[in-house]
Amino acid sequence: TTTDNAAKARISASELADVDRAHIIHPYLSATTTERVVMAKGQGSTLWDVDGREYLDATGGLWLAQVGHGRAELAEAAATQMRQLEYFTSFWEFSNNRAIELADRLAGLAPDNLNHVYFTSGGSEGIEAALKMARHHHYRRGDTDRTWILARHRAYHGVAYGGGTATGFPLYHDGFGPMLPDVAHLTPPWPYRTDLFGDEDCTDVCIRELENTIAEIGADNIAAMIGEPIMGVAGMVVPPDDYWPRVQEVLHRHGILLILDEVVTAYGRVGQWFAADHFGVRPDIIVTAKGITSGYLPLGAVLVDDHIAETLGQQGFPMGYTYNGHPTSCAVAQANLDIIDREHLLSRATEIGTYLTEKIATELKGIPVVGEVRGVGMMLGIELVSDTATRTPLPNPGAVADAVRREHGVIVRDSAQGLVLSPALTLGHNEADRIAAALRRVLERTDASGTVRD
Ligand code: PMP
Repeated sequence: TTTDNAAKARISASELADVDRAHIIHPYLSATTTERVVMAKGQGSTLWDVDGREYLDATGGLWLAQVGHGRAELAEAAATQMRQLEYFTSFWEFSNNRAIELADRLAGLAPDNLNHVYFTSGGSEGIEAALKMARHHHYRRGDTDRTWILARHRAYHGVAYGGGTATGFPLYHDGFGPMLPDVAHLTPPWPYRTDLFGDEDCTDVCIRELENTIAEIGADNIAAMIGEPIMGVAGMVVPPDDYWPRVQEVLHRHGILLILDEVVTAYGRVGQWFAADHFGVRPDIIVTAKGITSGYLPLGAVLVDDHIAETLGQQGFPMGYTYNGHPTSCAVAQANLDIIDREHLLSRATEIGTYLTEKIATELKGIPVVGEVRGVGMMLGIELVSDTATRTPLPNPGAVADAVRREHGVIVRDSAQGLVLSPALTLGHNEADRIAAALRRVLERTDASGTVRD
């Protein structure tokens, strides 16, 4: 009967894949890929597909599984709340106890000036809210020309039209236009890409460009600058330590708001509650999502400066989502933050993140296609190149990610120019060792054209 069950499971797995192909539109999946990996179960950093094949999740779902998979405590929190009040609106004067408790907690964790919270269902919705808040704040104060948004090339700010425009990759714009007007893209602070900076200091170049752009557009026409403290989709790009403090100083001098997109970096991923703490800046708005529930339910929280909240509140901020302050999502977020606190996952992110980064750097040392291994906490990027001298990006890093999964059952993702890793903050040392070994076994067989040899 064991064989029978296995056969049944196999049949049902391939049937599931057929139905998937017939009915589901997957983001970023071309029709030439017929393979489906159908996940069925998770525990910690381990996943099992419907065939019972085991995987090590080095991507933390989609960069959000702070506490790992399979926490019964979070399922209980959701069930308990659903039995009491599954949902009610937060429009107008309506509120709910779970949203209030969570907002109070977030205000305590966030930088001093951020005491107001606007809940969403995820990152993209949060970015739209932040951009609208920035423009509307100026508008309400009579600064009606302040419409421009400054962003960076290679930024990722979600897929709605506002954030999608601020996103700095052609892929997300081509064929979708016209995009939002009045958005300018600046050079990303990416020290490894010497082609962008030559011999000059990376921050100096970025700041000079920022000042020039402000002069060109006119400070009085600019609402805000938005940026990921560490650029995720670009490849976990860590800016020099002085970049954000200097950007903040320039923006402040010109009355331009600073919006940090911490959809990936918040809630422990970089070893602090927020990357704003890591870089020592006090943004006007922080957008968060993902790690706030570790992905157990959809939720985002936009943290807003007191002065902005005051102007927005005067006549009522005219923008609401049905799921603002969803009580069940907020209850799960509370239970998730409880685990992060109780298990000291902030310091754990630094400890295991340092271990993992060093382990990977050691294993990959001397491999010709490995340009750089970098990271902060549990956000790691591996820059892949076809030539370490010219730093030319390796074509098709997706083939490397696929091989790591198919051959070793380790799930990593490719970014524009390499691989990105963001495992659960609870990852074990043995698991870190397995990730590093799997990467080495594939990368040492990868040639300059991006082909993984047999
Ligand atoms: N901003 C950043 C920096 C992100 O990485 C993401 C998602 N990966 C988003 C915004 C969009 O979030 P969501 O997919 O939840 O809409």
